Amino acid sequence: MAEKEKKLPKGKKLEEELCWSYPNIAEKAPEQIAAAAAFAEGYKDFLSRCKTERECAAFAEQALLAAGYERFSPQKKYAAGDKVYQVNRGKAVLATVFGKKDIREGVRINGAHIDSPRLDLKPNPLYEKDEIAYFKTHYYGGIRKYQWGTIPLAMHGVAVRKDLTKVEFSIGEDPGDPVFCISDLLPHLAAKQSQRPLSEGLRGEELNIILGSTPYADGDVKEPFRLEVLRILNEKYGITERDFARAEIEMVPADKPRDIGFDRSMVGAYGQDDRVCAYPALMAQLDTVDPEYTTVTVLTDKEEIGSVGNTGLHSNYVHDYITYLCDNQGADPKEVFANSACLSADVNAAYDPTFPDVFEKKNASYLNHGVVLTKYTGARGKSGSSDASAEFMAKVIDIMDRAKVYWQIGELGAVDAGGGGTIAQFVAMMNIDVVDLGVPVLSMHAPFEITSKLDLYNTYLAFRAFYNEKEAAPEKPAAGRGRRKKK
Ligand code: MN
Ligand code: MN
Repeated sequence: MAEKEKKLPKGKKLEEELCWSYPNIAEKAPEQIAAAAAFAEGYKDFLSRCKTERECAAFAEQALLAAGYERFSPQKKYAAGDKVYQVNRGKAVLATVFGKKDIREGVRINGAHIDSPRLDLKPNPLYEKDEIAYFKTHYYGGIRKYQWGTIPLAMHGVAVRKDLTKVEFSIGEDPGDPVFCISDLLPHLAAKQSQRPLSEGLRGEELNIILGSTPYADGDVKEPFRLEVLRILNEKYGITERDFARAEIEMVPADKPRDIGFDRSMVGAYGQDDRVCAYPALMAQLDTVDPEYTTVTVLTDKEEIGSVGNTGLHSNYVHDYITYLCDNQGADPKEVFANSACLSADVNAAYDPTFPDVFEKKNASYLNHGVVLTKYTGARGKSGSSDASAEFMAKVIDIMDRAKVYWQIGELGAVDAGGGGTIAQFVAMMNIDVVDLGVPVLSMHAPFEITSKLDLYNTYLAFRAFYNEKEAAPEKPAAGRGRRKKK
């Protein structure tokens, strides 16, 4: 179309040369739609099987074993192409392919979290009130409590019995299973409750989960509704009330992932923050067979409550794992950390046309515009963020551009509209270059979150490019060929 180009008015031409806006992928690359839809099928299957960090870690371990990974052993000597992994307390996973380059040149890390907001059972959860049996809960992570009433909930988790045997729960996922539920008032009687601020629509101590309404049939017991629940739990799972003190039980939405829209362009599901990054991170790790740099995929826990605890990024477990890799290769870990690069693979808030006020449109991320590169997060003047350097932004953008990945920039909302954090700050503490890169999400932290299949797919492409980067080819002199044609 050279002729047409010439006819463009000067201003229009300059505008094309100098201005930039991030395109809608469906418009710019419709050929990606089918590939993205196919990739999303595997993702939905993963989401339907994995609703807790433990279930995600077990899924990842199985996938790694099936791909020929072995448990990392400090005693063994590994060479380029060797595949190892480690599991931290059943809740976090590390996976590595050794690269062709000397590990001293740094490792490539991609870290996503596999915990999601939910309702945890209290350590002494069971009670009855006015002929209904309930669980008391303590919410985990940043939920909007009013969203968790009147939806079907499933019970996942583990309990350890007195004899230290473990029982695993997953109740409410099979169509034949019962589900559980939190009640709310009918509108006819909610006049007073409706005057509460939205943050108190349902209060923390009102997130009580209905378990049963049948009394224990026989005899003169004080709390027959509670006892009947315990009788069933004991019969089916061999636990007693005391075992709740040795349990980690999470109540999560019981729904399955679904396609959203007539065009099926989106996925609706629970737990997409941050499994929408964890899944492509795991797939990119599995699809990386012969990398230049040694890879470290981290699927971590406890991000939603500040990365605390020994399975969160506050712990030394990632630091220690990389140190083991360095020892194995006879390298000084300090040198390796300083040369390493990390994607903190976490979601960002997608621009929501129904609630435009909390976004600044020029710097928001949009559904279907690709993986979001978030230079900094934080709140009140970037507080609590790890602000990526211009140089590291350039490096990551270059990798994505060369791999033809659709990416966009995005801030987490308008200035002072709120804020948030990711694992990036804890990675940065190890003296590693890090930036946030992930999928934009609508209704983040809701029981049913929305993502775009094209964004998910391009996130996978970005992670794969990061692990499979070849060095940039040196610029060839454009001798006798004139100006390079614009794409
Ligand atoms: Mn997250
Ligand atoms: Mn989150």
